[in-house]
Amino acid sequence: MPDITNLSIVLAARPEGRPKASDFRIEQSVIPQPADGELLLQVLYLSLDPYMRGRMNAAKSYAKPVELGQVMEGGTVARVVSSRHPDFEEGDIVLSHSGWQSFAVSDGAGLRKLDPSAAPITTALGILGMPGFTAYAGLLTIGRPKPGETVVVAAASGAVGSAVGQIARIKGARAVGIAGGPEKCRFVKEELGFDAMVDHRATDFPEQLRAVCPDGIDVYFENVGGHVWDAVFPLLNEFARIPVCGLIAQYNAVGHDGADRFPTFMREVLSRSLTIRGFIQREFVEQRPAFYREMADWLAFGKILYREDIVDGLANAPDAFIGLLEGRNFGKLIVRVS
Ligand code: NAP
Repeated sequence: MPDITNLSIVLAARPEGRPKASDFRIEQSVIPQPADGELLLQVLYLSLDPYMRGRMNAAKSYAKPVELGQVMEGGTVARVVSSRHPDFEEGDIVLSHSGWQSFAVSDGAGLRKLDPSAAPITTALGILGMPGFTAYAGLLTIGRPKPGETVVVAAASGAVGSAVGQIARIKGARAVGIAGGPEKCRFVKEELGFDAMVDHRATDFPEQLRAVCPDGIDVYFENVGGHVWDAVFPLLNEFARIPVCGLIAQYNAVGHDGADRFPTFMREVLSRSLTIRGFIQREFVEQRPAFYREMADWLAFGKILYREDIVDGLANAPDAFIGLLEGRNFGKLIVRVS
């Protein structure tokens, strides 16, 4: 491959608020060569996920930040180009965490071989990967929806939210989705089969949400926070369960608005016996085999559908990622790298 160089995207600056193109830098380098016990990966697809915004901050969180000048972190599907590792051979397709770059050397740790004949390989980054698993484990372990209950989820056309609502329906619950704009709402209701959809950009969004939840909300799968949470909170029933999965509306926030809502919030947690439980999907790792089995069946029987939003070219990853934090993506956001 004489003409091909390794392209990578590194963190150039830590964003204040919304990330900008100049917070990223494209670098070119010579393709690395594997040593004994290693293999060379060519990245085919890169997953773009909201958690990456947190990695751009210096602040301590549940995972270490990306350092300035370091390649941006990310899940990938890659092809083994050459191998000096006993468990992998040229041509294998693997799920890896090689980040925003076109080639990477790996010692094999954390790689999972994929079977391209079992499912499209991009699904390992979406419905059959981390986001699908997040929906499955968070909803079933913390949300525990019962038949007839109302389950509400925002970012409902996205990777996690679209799976949450469809799994809720499989369990006999009523799925109400929230999304940004009429096109996303139409898709989720008509194609994914949610019972009702509400556009969070509508001026009367809280009233519309109340109207489609006449029996209140039993499970709210929190993906967003912000004004969506404000509209959901008054509708929560006694004993409602709230898996707190993500707060994307707040990821670009600098400081907070100064209002102290905590005493009111705690009074409602007490008086309505609410269960609010944050989680990071990896805590449920022992459920992964059951997830792969069940989700593969649901996909095979058409009980779950998924949508991917594929952007071409690694150089377009920063702009696509900035768009993800503003709702520009429509489905699981993936970059086709090579
Ligand atoms: P996604 O839904 O595919 O894409 C993000 C969506 O969030 C956007 O399309 C947009 O949808 C919505 N959004 C963005 N900014 C918003 C705002 N200011 N207000 C309201 N909605 C906004 O992303 P995903 O990968 O499925 O992730 C969904 C959530 O799950 C994120 O909060 C993520 O951090 C979280 N997550 C958590 C875990 C975990 O282990 N806890 C794992 C994976 C993901 P609309 O246009 O419809 O508003």
